[in-house]
Amino acid sequence: MARSDYEAVIGLEVHVQLKTETKIFCNCPNRFGAQPNTLVCAVCLGYPGTLPVLNRAAVDQGIRLALALGATVHRRSIFARKNYFYADLPKGYQISQFDRPLAENGRLPLTQHDREVEIERLHLEEDAGKLLHEAPGGGQLPGTSLVDYNRCGTPLLEIVTTPSLRSAEEAQDYLQSLHQVLTTTGTSDGNMEEGSLRCDANVSMRPVGSAVLGTKAEVKNLNSFRFVARAIEYEIERQCALLDRGERVVQETRTFDSERGVTQPLRSKEEAHDYRYFPEPDLPPLVLAAARVDAIAAALPELPWTRRARLAADYGLDADDARLLTAEPALADYYEAAVAALPAQPQALANWVTNDVLKLRKEHGGAIGGAEDSASATVPAATLAQTVALVDDGTLSTSAGKTVFETLWQRRCADADAALDPAALAAELGLVQVRDADQIAAWAREAVAANPKQVAQYRGGKTKLIGFFVGQVMRASRGRAAPDLVQAALRDALDAAEV
Ligand code: ADP
Ligand code: ZN
Ligand code: MG
Repeated sequence: MARSDYEAVIGLEVHVQLKTETKIFCNCPNRFGAQPNTLVCAVCLGYPGTLPVLNRAAVDQGIRLALALGATVHRRSIFARKNYFYADLPKGYQISQFDRPLAENGRLPLTQHDREVEIERLHLEEDAGKLLHEAPGGGQLPGTSLVDYNRCGTPLLEIVTTPSLRSAEEAQDYLQSLHQVLTTTGTSDGNMEEGSLRCDANVSMRPVGSAVLGTKAEVKNLNSFRFVARAIEYEIERQCALLDRGERVVQETRTFDSERGVTQPLRSKEEAHDYRYFPEPDLPPLVLAAARVDAIAAALPELPWTRRARLAADYGLDADDARLLTAEPALADYYEAAVAALPAQPQALANWVTNDVLKLRKEHGGAIGGAEDSASATVPAATLAQTVALVDDGTLSTSAGKTVFETLWQRRCADADAALDPAALAAELGLVQVRDADQIAAWAREAVAANPKQVAQYRGGKTKLIGFFVGQVMRASRGRAAPDLVQAALRDALDAAEV
């Protein structure tokens, strides 16, 4: 069979760290970045005789995320012990959910592809600690590992897709789309560097058209969207090469070496853990009142796909603009606040936000404000609207408007209290358009008088030279002459000129 006769089958298991004040079974703070082993207690260190107490806020966050993903939240779910021995797991088991998960049967509409990904199940569990193979600060530790238990007991929601993804691009789209849901719902801070989102990718190949699943390899612990895509691409190539040689894919767990860009075997099916799951005896079944689930459902914010459709419909934006604006809830908030201040210009404002605002934030830093708080932006949305209105009414040329806005942005980055008046700044910078017809006529006559050769050519039929004269007037006016008046003034001056 040829390479094109195979299709990839991919399922993702994503561990999302839920945003809560405290851990899932104890009162320790759920926080990243503290000194190692300072956010720990007898419960999350697994001391004998301690008992877990379920954190209600963690459950609510799990329900919220499950509902946002369209899943059915079960009124009753069961915690289970997943037993294995590892240095980062002081109890010797992880409290998770197994055959009775919190929620099932969700779906996530992708952003870049026109389809939804099915989600099989979503379950609550606790995170393990973290092994460090380098000294804090980066020194070598030959033959030694350190362990930080701060992360033990961090609440996680594991989200498992059906094997319904078909490419590395779709997998990356899924993760980015999921990330948008996390930030929109406030269920996780979604910070990849801090491990808030970790992914295992299951990959197999099968003949195109086959309904039977091939043997899969599972690549563990991918902590960036790019690594997920690269690991999947590598697996597809590796498995295709095996199949092409008439060999079989063996079922195994692999790791991704990001420096070399390859996956490597970790353990085979024979070495697979037997987790000996059994119901957690120290926690009762999790029983949810319907009213609690309903209240969380009723309070869900507008989700990215709904907002995309609404922005397109309400403001006449195309799919690309709607996608860019909803990539971050705060960006869409900023845009909508600007449109509220200047309702006649939804498309111009979309262009400004997706081009200028994003570029300035990237180049100079600064913020666009938190959710529903575009007034706290480096340059508030209302000020963007004022600037665009000055361009719209001809006070500023487009390029002068951009200079004014960029200057505002830079000044506000340097000094959060810097003045926010685009009209005053345009005057200060000498950027206000000149619409004085006499002044423009004078510049036009000067341009004509100074360039007799071009005048003759123009008169001789080379009418394209009007562009040259416009350039001369713009130069003389330092870009301030109103373009709509310059053309007319030049025609008059050229007609009047003596050849
Ligand atoms: P396991 O028992 O190995 O944990 P599961 O059936 O629980 O496997 O599935 C774990 C993940 O692997 C899910 O995301 C699922 O969609 C995916 N998956 C299962 N079988 C395959 C396969 N043959 N190819 C690709 N992905 C698969
Ligand atoms: Zn604790
Ligand atoms: Mg499984």
